[in-house]
Amino acid sequence: MSWNRTWGYLAICVLTFPGILCSLQEQRQVLLVSFDGFRWDYIYKFPTPNFQYIIKNGIHVEHVTNAFITKTFPNHYTMVTGLYAESHGMVANEMYDPVLNDTFSMNHMTIYNSKFWEDAYPIWITNQREGHRSGAAMWPGTDVKIHDVFPTHYMLYNESVTFQERVAKLIEWFTSKNPINLGLLYWEQPDEWGHILGPDNPCMEEVIRDVDKNLGYLVSELKRANLWDTLNVIVTSDHGMAQSSRDRIIELDLYVDRELYKMIDHSPTVALLPGEGKLDEVYNALVNAHPHMSVYKKEDIPNRLHYNHNSKIQPILAVADEGWEILQNKSDGFIWGDHGYDNMLPEMHPIFLAHGPAFRRNFTKQAMNSTDLYPLLCHMLGISPLPNNGSLDNVKDLLVSSVPGAPQPRFLVDYQQGSYAFYMGIILGSILIFIFLLAFVRHLTYSQTPAVWGRQTEMTQPLLQP
Ligand SMILES: [Zn+2]
Repeated sequence: MSWNRTWGYLAICVLTFPGILCSLQEQRQVLLVSFDGFRWDYIYKFPTPNFQYIIKNGIHVEHVTNAFITKTFPNHYTMVTGLYAESHGMVANEMYDPVLNDTFSMNHMTIYNSKFWEDAYPIWITNQREGHRSGAAMWPGTDVKIHDVFPTHYMLYNESVTFQERVAKLIEWFTSKNPINLGLLYWEQPDEWGHILGPDNPCMEEVIRDVDKNLGYLVSELKRANLWDTLNVIVTSDHGMAQSSRDRIIELDLYVDRELYKMIDHSPTVALLPGEGKLDEVYNALVNAHPHMSVYKKEDIPNRLHYNHNSKIQPILAVADEGWEILQNKSDGFIWGDHGYDNMLPEMHPIFLAHGPAFRRNFTKQAMNSTDLYPLLCHMLGISPLPNNGSLDNVKDLLVSSVPGAPQPRFLVDYQQGSYAFYMGIILGSILIFIFLLAFVRHLTYSQTPAVWGRQTEMTQPLLQP
């Protein structure tokens, strides 16, 4: 075999190598989607063909134990840090920090106070520090400058921006000349209607159908942009929703003078800051006040809730039983659905499903913790996780690479979905590499170059003359 032909094969291999590298890089792209307040069992209660499509072609985790308290900001920050609320510091939707002497409220511009977010480093910061690019469409906290960093691309939070516009931005970022490898997409439903209607209201069917349509739109747009087969898409939520009732209201005014404390965070898990020297008085008035309300001093909050060690956790916490509300007075606002209860309650658990080259197909797993999502994301992105409360081992079985003898992810997906060109490309590439190696060995064996020949005869003689 001549040198010319050998170099020809070498050239082909070199030319195909970037393609192989590119394909490996594509496997590391992740889109994390949160439908706020999408309870784990909505997919069993209502028609959800697009959720079912992902489950059939990807993975589904039936029970995800999220973080206490089961509210929006704490859980969205848990998903991107792998930390319990006491560690990432986003301990509630409404907070007061006695160290900063400052307040945080999801209903006000105070959410842009960076200090409340800086107990932790969310995943987009780590991703960017390792040389990658992130894009976020309204995920809580992504339009806040945290540790002096914004996501590479982000949208300022504006509820009136449609789902379609958010999807369009993410696709633009994933397909740009310098693409992102991490995308974060947030949508306010079905949480808002869940609060207004209550999860048991038959009208929730229309709400869930609408969310399902949005998921279908996302899938069709990803297919249109040729991203569906290469992008790993995780669809999840922050919490579930429980049905409230006007018959299940606990009125604090019946038990304690409201002048003795300040209510920092609201029902159904209520954070109370007693006036100076009034801690025991308020606590003693409430601790046995109602059979459906558990009241703790901060230091006595059960360890399993991982909700003690942060200055933003108030001295007294009152937690309602499922379906109960804690108000100061019945005249305070009432909503038909609520969340924020104990994270052991199934009604508080979110949906979790995923599809993509890294994930197994048609695989159902019983349980995981929402803290496990962060190490999973880091593993998929190829970045180093910061210390966290999750475990990759708990969720590794969701991945193709965890199945002994399984083909490489990209190969599996394209083969199964019938991408003939890519399948043939891989086979052809393998054959070319094999031919090149064969040619190279033969060249070394028969080369006319004296120095090389002299050494190779000794090494290869026994093989050539069996
Ligand atoms: Zn929420």
